[in-house]
Amino acid sequence: MTAPTSNPLLQPWQTPFGLPPFAQIRPEHYGPAFQHAMQMHRAEADAIAQSSEPPTFDNTIAAFDRCGRDLGRIARLFFNLAASETSPALQAVEREISPRLAAHFSAIRLHAGLFARIDELFQRRDELRLTPEQLRLTERTHLDFVREGARLPAAARARYGAIVERLAELSTRFSQNVLADETGYRLVLRDERDLAGLPQDLRAAARAAAQERGEADVWIITLSRSLIVPFLTFSDRRDLREQAFAAWTRRGEHDGEHDNRPVAREILALRKEQARLHGYRHYADYALVDRMAGTPAAVAQLLEQVWEPAKARAAAEREALGAMALAHGAQHTIEPWDWRYYAEKVRKARYRMDDAALKPYFSLERMLAAAFDTAQRLFGLRFIERPDIGAYHTDVRVFEVRGRDGGTVGLFLSDNYARPHKRGGAWMSAYRWQSRADGETLPVIVNNNNFAKGPAGEPTLLSADDVRTLFHEFGHGLHGLLSQVTYERLSGTQVLRDFVELPSQLFEHWAFEPAVLKRHALHHATGQPIPEELIDRLKAARRFNQGFETVEYTACALVDMALHALPDVDGVDITAFERAELERIGMPREIVLRHRLPHFGHLFASSAYAAGYYVYMWAEVLDADGYEAFVEAGDPFDSEVAERIRRYVYSSGGTLLPAEAYRAFRGRDPVVGPLLAQRGLADVRQAA
Ligand SMILES: [Zn+2]
Repeated sequence: MTAPTSNPLLQPWQTPFGLPPFAQIRPEHYGPAFQHAMQMHRAEADAIAQSSEPPTFDNTIAAFDRCGRDLGRIARLFFNLAASETSPALQAVEREISPRLAAHFSAIRLHAGLFARIDELFQRRDELRLTPEQLRLTERTHLDFVREGARLPAAARARYGAIVERLAELSTRFSQNVLADETGYRLVLRDERDLAGLPQDLRAAARAAAQERGEADVWIITLSRSLIVPFLTFSDRRDLREQAFAAWTRRGEHDGEHDNRPVAREILALRKEQARLHGYRHYADYALVDRMAGTPAAVAQLLEQVWEPAKARAAAEREALGAMALAHGAQHTIEPWDWRYYAEKVRKARYRMDDAALKPYFSLERMLAAAFDTAQRLFGLRFIERPDIGAYHTDVRVFEVRGRDGGTVGLFLSDNYARPHKRGGAWMSAYRWQSRADGETLPVIVNNNNFAKGPAGEPTLLSADDVRTLFHEFGHGLHGLLSQVTYERLSGTQVLRDFVELPSQLFEHWAFEPAVLKRHALHHATGQPIPEELIDRLKAARRFNQGFETVEYTACALVDMALHALPDVDGVDITAFERAELERIGMPREIVLRHRLPHFGHLFASSAYAAGYYVYMWAEVLDADGYEAFVEAGDPFDSEVAERIRRYVYSSGGTLLPAEAYRAFRGRDPVVGPLLAQRGLADVRQAA
């Protein structure tokens, strides 16, 4: 065991921006460092609780915000690396440390002496002459404790701790079961007949998947989204599509050791018990209290406005697919494994859209420059590369971010390529949050993507979807970088779950603004700007297949809310529940849930999105309506609108209630019209 004194995780990090000294840190440093940092955190919490002074905002609320700094920086480093650049050694640490951390944080929130002081201040908060941010921090801290069981009687607190621990175990098992099904399945393609219809880049990816599994001379499709979705889109082999689709949609749903049905059943029962202990009828009521939406009824009202128009639009889309199938001589009806295949043919025929024609204009280098330039035009930020600052992998690029006045704002790490030891998907995270309570602390923010790196000596070319993802994560990144708050708990993206996608989804709007494309979408070889006609086609195809997309998403959100609003979940059969619920809402038979319950990680791999899958749609109401402010101003870079959105959304973190923040930016509450228009649902009788 490494002694704490020689452990680099426990030393002050004398590095630019307090970046971790990556090169010095070894996996065996984490265990002892976590142990030590948890003890320190506990001691700091005890000291606040045992103070002989009467509680004040400074000696209790602000002091609690400041404590556990070492634990915070070690945990952020560890979980960032566990996602971006893991190893068997780090994975072993993760299995060991995750339940211990969960138990540690639960014990802090159930600390009776600490909560007594916080509660006293909370009850007297209106007499304390707090600044608005201090008031918000008081309310936020109090709610964090209450939601983790601090107000429960002693006997119930013990039970609550046990529930939290068991939920952590079950969630890990749920996601490991899904992963086992995803990596365990392989559709082996042996010859040209099996490969019929597949484009070159998909063949290359399937070949790489085969090689990774030690199989030469074949191609393998796994159930990873990046392989299965393109396979269903392009494969001419209807029999293979049906076979792969069946395996994909039944992940987690089969007898044996990876069966998620009993796991989900137990999670639901524990959540119901959790909600009841708090005095709520069911988990949906409990979850929604800490969201912008506030109540399940508010969510239902939004989803209902979307659901019927989405179904109508999907029905029109299905007719177009049926006609396309007939034109190809197919005599069958459209089945779920046919939808993506014929939709792609309709898209090509109707809009002459082809990713291969677009990609040369979307080099990663130029699109990153486009994102930076957009941030400069909106918020005055400049991104200056700092090759002298090393990160955890040579592919990670490090940028110092400067503000309009030339002052340094923070550090931005850009980690864009897929690697074997990197988790899938795209995400934003922080190595350090911005705050001022302990002196000016600048944010260190990272964006992760999983783009396939171009061949040696050639640029990495992105699809339109990739470009959207790049801008999305960069929007989250700006939410972290532009943060201007005093207290760490309120910094950056630490806002309510149905508000956090506003800065990211809003930023997507600039990715395909003609003004941005004309300036930055330059052909990687010739430097020629993207042709006007391609921009027009991109725009025309924007609403294509939105009926399908909206139905497969919204149905998930409806099933999630219904499941978590069940007053009695004992012995619930999740597949029977799913079937009955889909029948009740009139799910089109050709469309399957984007995530079926036995593998719905958003709901069961953690509780973050339980009774919360709706949040993307909720935030889309805000981003669609919010972007209209720029449209109304007649300029996507209107400086006055940009300043308002910076001030009230990108910089304010959790210092404002979301509804107040939005109203301050927009001058009124959001309306749902722009979202319906954006998805082509405003008048579904128009051409699909
Ligand atoms: Zn996001």
